[in-house]
Amino acid sequence: MDDTLDYALSQDRADELKDFRAQFHFPLAGNTPALYFCGNSLGLQPKKAEAYVHRVMNAWKTYAVGGYMIGDAPWMYYADRFKAPLAALTGALPHEVSVMNTLTVNLHLLLCSFYRPTQERYKILLEAGAFPSDQYAAQTQAIHHGLDPKEALIEVAPRPGEKLIREEDLLEAIRQAGPSLAVVLIGGVNYYTGQNFDLKTITAAAHAVGALAGYDLAHAVGNVPMQLHDWDVDFAVWCSYKYLNGGPGAAGAVYIHERFSLDPAFPRFGGWGGSRLDTRFDMLPDFTPERGADGWNLSVAAALVMGGLEASLELFMEAGLDRLRAKSLRLTGYMEYLFTKLPGGAFEVITPRREEARGAQLSVYFYYEGAALQKSLAAAGIITDYRDPGVIRFSPAPLYNSFEDVYLLYEALGAILKTR
Ligand SMILES: *Cc1c(COP(=O)(O)O)cnc(C)c1O
Repeated sequence: MDDTLDYALSQDRADELKDFRAQFHFPLAGNTPALYFCGNSLGLQPKKAEAYVHRVMNAWKTYAVGGYMIGDAPWMYYADRFKAPLAALTGALPHEVSVMNTLTVNLHLLLCSFYRPTQERYKILLEAGAFPSDQYAAQTQAIHHGLDPKEALIEVAPRPGEKLIREEDLLEAIRQAGPSLAVVLIGGVNYYTGQNFDLKTITAAAHAVGALAGYDLAHAVGNVPMQLHDWDVDFAVWCSYKYLNGGPGAAGAVYIHERFSLDPAFPRFGGWGGSRLDTRFDMLPDFTPERGADGWNLSVAAALVMGGLEASLELFMEAGLDRLRAKSLRLTGYMEYLFTKLPGGAFEVITPRREEARGAQLSVYFYYEGAALQKSLAAAGIITDYRDPGVIRFSPAPLYNSFEDVYLLYEALGAILKTR
């Protein structure tokens, strides 16, 4: 590696995924495309998304109620086409995955099934600094069950003076909670630090004490490879608008291991959207769930918020997660290398150094004026995001970011740092 534009361009020329970039709309900074490093927050719009959303609008216009059953993508079965790609991205079986609602709604729905505290077993273990929605969901679930969140929630924090959670500390906290632990609820990749937890080991540790393991994969799906089924993960939820590029408000998804999802007696909150499809329109008085994760649906499919996801998942399947991950490791590694060439003393990268312990993100802690720096970058046409205290998150998404993008970011950052 070296810190020249020539090197970056040579890497792009050799990149077999380079053409995917042309499948996306980039926002403009003035009249030129911005440098976009926010795919971990909102993925770019695939060019085909508009046509797929319009297909739903047109079916509605043309067939009205008939659109449920006829047209190119009948709404009744629309979500089924996401099962295979999402199963491939998460290492699930297709019937263990279902597209529905949005992330936090799904988290609550699955906690209704998987968090049923008893006198002895009532605790939820989270990583400290979990995404707020996860914290709020866990707190209010505890309160819903008449528990005090201070008693019911265990938050595992980094050691004093450290920024990352040590996995050994997570595992030790699980062991210590032992028979009082009901559910482990961790973000697969932490949104703030970019730390990719070893879900296989954490799941085994949870199971060893008789607890369940559920994950929020908002920052993991479409980013890092996973084997949810083989790792024996009990349940998971994710949204579709970050690395999956499904667009704002896109339908989220759930994973529910088949040992639960194929059991019609396993408790869940029911609605007609999750009732058996073959008898759904018989309007029967009693709820019989559809087999698989679909049995957690409540309502008819929200076809209007699925077109972007369809367009994006086609690209994911074409590119393949293995190739995307390989490029992602190199892109993020290149960014990390270039950051070592910047003037020292102003910042530190808090994302783990180890490749397996991170995805397509570097979180950089600036010792002073991080927020102002992020604004200067924005003024230079470089889109990133800032989170207190002091962290700018840079996410090079392998589907549409290039080595040149990373190089230009480095150059701009160097110029700004020099003026401070
Ligand atoms: C983005 C994100 C969410 C967002 O939840 P919504 O219900 O889609 O608004 C929740 N949890 C994590 C960890 C996230 O990164």
